[in-house]
Amino acid sequence: MSKKIQAIRGMNDLLPEQSPRWQYLEECIRRLVAAYGYREIRMPILEQTALFKRSIGEVTDIVEKEMYTFEDRNGDSLTLRPEGTAGCVRAAEEHGLLFNQQQRLWYAGPMFRHERPQKGRYRQFHQVGVETFGLEGPDIDAELIMMSARLWRELGILNALTLELNTLGSSESRQAYRQALTDYLSQYHAQLDEDSQRRLTTNPLRILDSKNPQTQALLQDAPRFDDYLDEDSRAHFNGLCQLLDAAGIQYTLNPRLVRGLDYYGKTVFEWTTQALGAQGTVCAGGRYDALVEQLGGKTTPAVGFAMGVERLVLLLETLKVFPDRIDQTVDVYLAANGEGAESYALLLAERLRSEYPDLRLLTHCGGGQFKKQIKKADQSGAQLALLLGEEEMSRGVASVKFLRQDLEQTELPISDLARFLKDHLQSR
Ligand code: ATP
Ligand code: MG
Repeated sequence: MSKKIQAIRGMNDLLPEQSPRWQYLEECIRRLVAAYGYREIRMPILEQTALFKRSIGEVTDIVEKEMYTFEDRNGDSLTLRPEGTAGCVRAAEEHGLLFNQQQRLWYAGPMFRHERPQKGRYRQFHQVGVETFGLEGPDIDAELIMMSARLWRELGILNALTLELNTLGSSESRQAYRQALTDYLSQYHAQLDEDSQRRLTTNPLRILDSKNPQTQALLQDAPRFDDYLDEDSRAHFNGLCQLLDAAGIQYTLNPRLVRGLDYYGKTVFEWTTQALGAQGTVCAGGRYDALVEQLGGKTTPAVGFAMGVERLVLLLETLKVFPDRIDQTVDVYLAANGEGAESYALLLAERLRSEYPDLRLLTHCGGGQFKKQIKKADQSGAQLALLLGEEEMSRGVASVKFLRQDLEQTELPISDLARFLKDHLQSR
């Protein structure tokens, strides 16, 4: 026997028993974005490598070590998208959706990052992203956060999540602060962890969210960004906080929240949970007013967020808040025995589906004894089994067996079945 080929490490199959949970979450998200008037955009999964280098930033974790980059047959450097914002901006700009316009967009799909696979961290994972353009905020910043909060409330996980909020100010104030932080930390170069030593010259702000305790201790007395924040950003941030207060949305101010991507300025936020261990961020976003211009467009204010679908599914599972009903995929199992009955069953099934379009009906295929078929019916999760034998056929009736209720088996004329199923299943 030849060796079996397996899936790529960190890239998961989604099996049929898990997919109802994804579908449930996706449905909730579709309802949510529709309720706020956001429109869907779909971008390719492959983009020119330069797009990500120019937007995410050359010295970020993603571009330095996480991208799936390769040359295609023409020798062009292409990259499997590690996130959606860059492609969304590219597409919106390319099709003239940005200049002098306001857009509220969303997308969903797989992203690719070459990270060390572990619980909540994969090499192919899925995000739902929301991006808005042409709106300066802070009202739109607040809308995005209120929208995410509404989703958590509907899913029943709001209590397990904390909203962390920060502002990264204007690029001038960030630059001044970066210098001050670099000057301060350079004195303690030898005491910094290895990653932070490297970041000191490449991306010093990222040192703020280092997990290393010694580095964190050094940061206690570091210069504070608040002292460098420009007035415009301060007013924007205060405005956002007031809107969130008015909406009753709780948040924690986290001056260490800097985010891993270069394009953020002003508002940044993350929704985090304690319930998932180290991979605790389920949704993250912020404002990126400079990105459209950086990618060749006219200056366009923009703000958005992305949530990690795998982490949300994990959280909903951990908190046991998935509704039971979503695992049930069939209502009725149609069993038939005998040559005439078996071939009629397929036609009867078609007729029932036409007469009752919401019906979810599984037809037994392959024949066999009723006993065996009823066992299959039970395993299918169906509420009812319809039994069609030769003798019943000749009388124009079918038997109804209740699989989940303590009720006597009963017989009904075939012409009454659709109405009966509708009444019975809807009254449950
Ligand atoms: P982390 O700090 O966990 O690495 P990040 O800052 O790299 O996250 P973003 O780029 O902001 O993440 O992506 C938004 C969301 O996408 C994250 O909050 C997370 O829920 C999800 N996400 C990011 N990377 C992965 C991954 N490798 N596997 C699964 N989900 C991920
Ligand atoms: Mg990451």
